[in-house]
Amino acid sequence: MTKEVTIVGAGWAGLAAAIKATQQGWTVHLIEAAQTGGGRAKSVKHRGELFDNGQHALIGAYHETLSLMKAIGLEPDELFERQGLAWGYASGPPFGLPKDPLPFKTLRSLLMNARYGPLEKLSLLKPVQCWIKQLLMTQTDTTVAQLFHGVSDTLMRDIISPLCLSALNTPLDRASASTFARVLKDAFSNPPDSCSFLFPKKPLSEIFPIRSLEWLKSRGARIELGRRIDSLHDIDVNAPCILAVPAWQAAKLTRDSHPNWSDTADGLTHKAIASVYLKGVAKEAPQGKSTALQSQLICFNEHMELDNCVHPQFGIHLNALKKQSPLGSAALQTANPQHWALIVSVADPFRRQDIIQNAMDLARTQLELQAIELQFCTIEKRATFSCEAHAKRPPTVIAQGLFACGDYVQGPYPSTLEGAVRSGLRAAACLDETHSNAA
Ligand SMILES: Cc1cc2nc3c(=O)[nH]c(=O)nc-3n(C[C@H](O)[C@H](O)[C@H](O)COP(=O)(O)OP(=O)(O)OC[C@H]3O[C@@H](n4cnc5c(N)ncnc54)[C@H](O)[C@@H]3O)c2cc1C
Repeated sequence: MTKEVTIVGAGWAGLAAAIKATQQGWTVHLIEAAQTGGGRAKSVKHRGELFDNGQHALIGAYHETLSLMKAIGLEPDELFERQGLAWGYASGPPFGLPKDPLPFKTLRSLLMNARYGPLEKLSLLKPVQCWIKQLLMTQTDTTVAQLFHGVSDTLMRDIISPLCLSALNTPLDRASASTFARVLKDAFSNPPDSCSFLFPKKPLSEIFPIRSLEWLKSRGARIELGRRIDSLHDIDVNAPCILAVPAWQAAKLTRDSHPNWSDTADGLTHKAIASVYLKGVAKEAPQGKSTALQSQLICFNEHMELDNCVHPQFGIHLNALKKQSPLGSAALQTANPQHWALIVSVADPFRRQDIIQNAMDLARTQLELQAIELQFCTIEKRATFSCEAHAKRPPTVIAQGLFACGDYVQGPYPSTLEGAVRSGLRAAACLDETHSNAA
């Protein structure tokens, strides 16, 4: 029996499946509708400049993604800027864990944080207690808001909401507590590395998709870009197939042949993310006044718990990622022009102008920029599936010889690059099981 597999979709899930299948000795035929790989996590050209199709960040706990990069010869330390788990606010002291957050040091740093009063600090014990409870209750799920009931509003807005929105892209009153607890568990499994942020230093396409396609080609994979599959009949029926397309596309392709699986995939709802890229000139701030510009990641915490939002909740200072600059970090903070990406998680995709206007206003009033220029705004309507408590996700196996992978397929992670990569690896593992059963 020859080991040939067709993989439809060259997003991060499809690429992971293709790499793993190749390593397992399969000959891969990869079909992708777009002219480039990467799916939702790639770079796009706008007026001659490259921007990411939405600003992405990883965390150190994304082990499968980082290992896969290494497996094809990439060096994550050259691709990402690693930053401690920290962010600033437009006003007041920043939030941050120390560089070596062993449990005692973490607790000490939180207790020393000037942002919170004594009662609020005491209520910090509650999330820890709730989190342990959720990890023990593996069979049940609840919402993140219910899980953290009783925690002070300030702590919810300053710490829990930013973590939940950035990881699950779902409002707290609907977000799955068990998925959130799982991400936190992994993030704190091996501090400080596991909980650090990894910000891309290069365009996203250069970080993984382009190199993966080259790696696959050099190992005999047949890659067809610019070919859309509209029906399963268009695929070689003699070879197993992995559908690595988004949930709604997979649901469409399987509607007639596998209606139950299709209904589950179709039942997921999706949320939009808006990313506004802009640049401006930093105002000369009186010494010690501006706290915002001293952090690479800014959390606009007054807009944390909104659904269908038009206000950015996060700002990422992109200058600090431009490694080619010989300037030290202090000089970078005041370098001109300043480049920022302002992000609206759970955005209202139909209010583009409001989103842009609010981003420009925030850049002026809170980031203290002037002469602000909009560079690029991208709103991905179905950026991530809504990771709600009790959300039913479809399994990897659709039928004999037909598998699915993607960030929405059953798994421990929310809609993230790590979730996509893990599902791709799982689908490739299923291929081998099918093959050994048939042999
Ligand atoms: C704006 C934005 C910000 C994000 N931020 C983060 C972040 O900070 N951290 C993080 O971890 N994750 C983030 N994500 C989520 C992450 O990008 C996704 O989870 C991940 O890219 C999904 O990969 P995938 O392979 O499952 O799906 P996709 O990327 O959607 O890939 C599917 C591929 O299938 C192709 N395709 C579709 N239909 C067909 C067809 N009929 N025939 C052939 N090919 C087809 C598509 O063109 C695409 O290339 C963000 C997403 C967005 C949009």
